[in-house]
Amino acid sequence: MIEVEHVSRRFGPLLAVNDVSLTVERGTITVLVGTSGSGKSTLLRIINRLIEPTSGTIRIDGRDTAGLSGEELRRGIGYAIQGHGLFPHWTVARNIATVPTLLGWDRARIGRRVVELLELFELDPASYAGKFPHQLSGGQQQRVGVARALAAEPAVLLMDEPFGALDPIIRAKAQEDLLALQRRLGITVVLVTHDMEEAIHLGDRIAVMDGGEVLQYATPAEILAHPVPGFVEKLVGGAD
Ligand code: ADP
Ligand code: MG
Repeated sequence: MIEVEHVSRRFGPLLAVNDVSLTVERGTITVLVGTSGSGKSTLLRIINRLIEPTSGTIRIDGRDTAGLSGEELRRGIGYAIQGHGLFPHWTVARNIATVPTLLGWDRARIGRRVVELLELFELDPASYAGKFPHQLSGGQQQRVGVARALAAEPAVLLMDEPFGALDPIIRAKAQEDLLALQRRLGITVVLVTHDMEEAIHLGDRIAVMDGGEVLQYATPAEILAHPVPGFVEKLVGGAD
C-alpha cells in the first residue's frame, strides 16, 4: 500500500535519510526503530510530505504522493506524535475536529464524529469533550492525540514515538489498545520508536535504521532469529 523507493533527504551536508526503499502492506503495522538521530522521524514525515525528500518517490495505493494536494494527504494520512501534540488552548473536541474542520465537514457531522471517537477511546463525551489537554492524564492526552489523527478516517496512520511520554503501565495498556484498534479498523500503521522491545511487540514488520539507512527490514521473528551482523545484532541483544 505504501511504497518508498530510493528516498533520501539531505539537510545541508547531512544525509538524514539515505536511499531507503521499503513496501508497507495494507492493514499491517510497520515499525521504524533506531537510536536518536537515525532518521526515523524524517522518514515518517516524508511519507506524509511534511518533509520533502531530496530524491526518491513515495506511492500510496499506486499514486505518487508528490502529485497529491495537501487536502488529499490530510484526508488519507493521520499523524500522531508524542505527548504534547495537542493544541493546549483548544478543548478536546476542537482538537479532535482539527482535520475535519480543515476539510470543510459540516458542524453536525463533525460533532457526531467527535462523540464517536471519544466513545471509541473510552472517554465519556459528556465529561471530556469540553476539557482542555492540561486537565487530562498523559494516557488520556495520548488517546486524544490518536483520536485526532483518526478523525477523518484516514487509511494510513503515522505515529512518532506515540507512547514515549507514558509511564510503563499506561504504556503497556496504550500498546494493547493500539493493536486492538488497528485490527478493528484495519488501518495501515507506520510507527516510530527507539525501543526494540516495543518494535518487536507491535510490528508486523520492523525497519531497523541507523545513520539514515535501513539496515534490515523484516518480521520480528526474522530479526530475532537472523539479525544482520553488527548494529542490528547488538540492538536485538539489548532487547532480550
Ligand atoms: P530520529 O527521529 O531517528 O531521532 P531525525 O529524523 O529526527 O532522527 O533526524 C535525523 C538527523 O537529521 C539528525 O541528525 C537530525 O539532527 C537531522 N535533522 C532532522 N531535521 C533537521 C532539520 N530540519 N534541519 C537540519 N537537520 C535536521
Ligand atoms: Mg524522532
